[in-house]
Amino acid sequence: MKQKLKIYNTLSRKKELFTPINPPFAGMYVCGPTVYGDAHLGHARPAITFDLLFRYLQFIGYQVRYVRNITDVGHLVDDADAGEDKIAKKAKLEQLEPMEVVQKYTNSFHRNMLELNALEPSIEPHASGHITEQTAMIKDILQKGYAYEVNGSVYFDVQKYAETNHYGKLSGRKIEDLLANTRTLAGQDEKKSPLDFALWKKADEEHIMRWTSEWSEGFPGWHLECSVMSTKYLGDTFDIHGGGLDLQFPHHECEIAQSKIAKGKDAVKYWMHNNLITIAGQKMSKSLGNFITLDEMFSGNNRLLEQAYHPIVVRFFILQAHYRSTLDFSNKALQASEKGLQKLFKGLETLDKLKPGKESTFDIQSFKDKCFDALNDDLNTPVLIARLFDGIKTINQIHTEHEKINEADLKELKAFFQLMVFDILGLKRMEENKSFDQKLEEIIDLLLNLRLEAKNKKDFALSDKIRDELNKAGIVVKDKKDGFEWELK
Ligand code: ZN
Repeated sequence: MKQKLKIYNTLSRKKELFTPINPPFAGMYVCGPTVYGDAHLGHARPAITFDLLFRYLQFIGYQVRYVRNITDVGHLVDDADAGEDKIAKKAKLEQLEPMEVVQKYTNSFHRNMLELNALEPSIEPHASGHITEQTAMIKDILQKGYAYEVNGSVYFDVQKYAETNHYGKLSGRKIEDLLANTRTLAGQDEKKSPLDFALWKKADEEHIMRWTSEWSEGFPGWHLECSVMSTKYLGDTFDIHGGGLDLQFPHHECEIAQSKIAKGKDAVKYWMHNNLITIAGQKMSKSLGNFITLDEMFSGNNRLLEQAYHPIVVRFFILQAHYRSTLDFSNKALQASEKGLQKLFKGLETLDKLKPGKESTFDIQSFKDKCFDALNDDLNTPVLIARLFDGIKTINQIHTEHEKINEADLKELKAFFQLMVFDILGLKRMEENKSFDQKLEEIIDLLLNLRLEAKNKKDFALSDKIRDELNKAGIVVKDKKDGFEWELK
């Protein structure tokens, strides 16, 4: 473990040296999407932030188990304890089975993650697949006296918890302020206190997603799944819990309370939160009409977009800001990222062309140290990217012969850029994102251009052979005056 990574712990509000509970293992749980619609810009940021952390922890030498859940039940409209389930609402709207909605948007989320070059998590548990474990945790909390049952629903008793624990320690809220600021909404009156939250909800007659339990036919509360699945797969105490800043309260605060009572100790060592993406300074939301899905970003098919943006440009744009800073989307900013990325790749092409000399003026060690220092400082990617551009500048100076590099240094520099740009930042050359069909079309065009060359050289045997073999493969070639056309049989 040569690199010493410091991460900002939202709980202590300090940067702390990452020291896992059971080295060389490192456990990381990140709240995943509620799969009731297409993934949007807001999903890209946690995915990329924690993908970077996943990649870097593995590079440092840890064996990382990365768990990211899929919320497919219990997340109610308005994130509160009343109202329709987000999935069920969408199912009615699209006239699908709730699990069809879940499958549809899980698939599209996975496709978007692949496009953004985010590595797959080690485990991706679904809330609906862990109902038994959730009811077991509810029973446990009830037995310990920190929950109560009313009319078939079970609520966590926040006031009782707060007598001996600090409810609000993650988000920095005070229970008195919370109480003063909470309105009692219709349907919440069965709770002892408006701060209490549902562990189990009795299903209304029209509620379609329901499971049997000893309390009622119903469904688990949204916060519970993360306490259950994180500890099931990572142990009663684990290293890192991540998610977007919007989840800090109440979702993560409730998780802390549930896990503390169920497990008798704090489950999470480091809490990490990525900041949010705004659009022209405003929160992205459907009601404000400034909502951009990832598919729309990549196709340009949204009135807010001046062009399509390649997924890797979106990834680079997100990495150019520190994950704890806000990031404002604008076409101008995305276009600047696109230019920046092109400049970076052009620099790498120049690096590939460099010819080594006998001496070196490039201080590779200090360059590498500066890059690692940036990453080790709470994943400071904007500083890392600036350092990489400093390196590109030197590469260009070597190319124009103001500076020099020897063979060993050149080899080391190439390997280092490969590591930083591709393995850790997870960038990709943009042409690598072409679909298989696009690549195939290019190969057919290539073959037919070779055939044209053969024809021009009067090598008709070769030109006929190419045509006939393509024909056998189902590709019909038609000669035109100025070239060729082809189509699938
Ligand atoms: Zn969660």
